[in-house]
Amino acid sequence: MCHLITVVIALRAEADVRALAVAHGLRLVAFRPPTAGLRDGEHQYATCPGQCDCGTPLGATRRSRGGRDDDEHQRAKLSKKGWGAAKIDRWLAQVDASRKKKQANHDSRTKSCEAWCDFIVAALDARIGTFGLMLHWSDGSPLEVVRRVSVDRAALSPAVLAEIEENVLYDLLS
Ligand SMILES: [Zn+2]
Repeated sequence: MCHLITVVIALRAEADVRALAVAHGLRLVAFRPPTAGLRDGEHQYATCPGQCDCGTPLGATRRSRGGRDDDEHQRAKLSKKGWGAAKIDRWLAQVDASRKKKQANHDSRTKSCEAWCDFIVAALDARIGTFGLMLHWSDGSPLEVVRRVSVDRAALSPAVLAEIEENVLYDLLS
């Protein structure tokens, strides 16, 4: 189970974005199979310079609030089974701790939110057209775009990146 960060661009932008990625310490690798729900002409690439993006600061502010996107779903399921709130909290905390322990050994070379901002701004400056950013939580099941959100370049900041949600495609608008 890993965090993975992908970018979604047009095929014609691949060479430009690949060069920018290298300049920013990232690596562009075609993502297979592509996440379900992308539009025609959208190409998806993994960006991890290492094995995965575990430990990434992207979305970390949200996660630190206990706002893992699948927590609510788990909570509802367990509550239906008759579990009390305290028991559910303990269980989710245990799951989170074991996940962190496992991920501590992953070969990830994560980039700061500032570095990600720099990379995205450089890509928008290069007029590559569409630029999408996604943070995935990969547990082996097929990935899909759960929602799309547009972000104006003027609104982009490290704090915004620290708040992104998993499996949501953020369209950066130049
Ligand atoms: Zn990992």
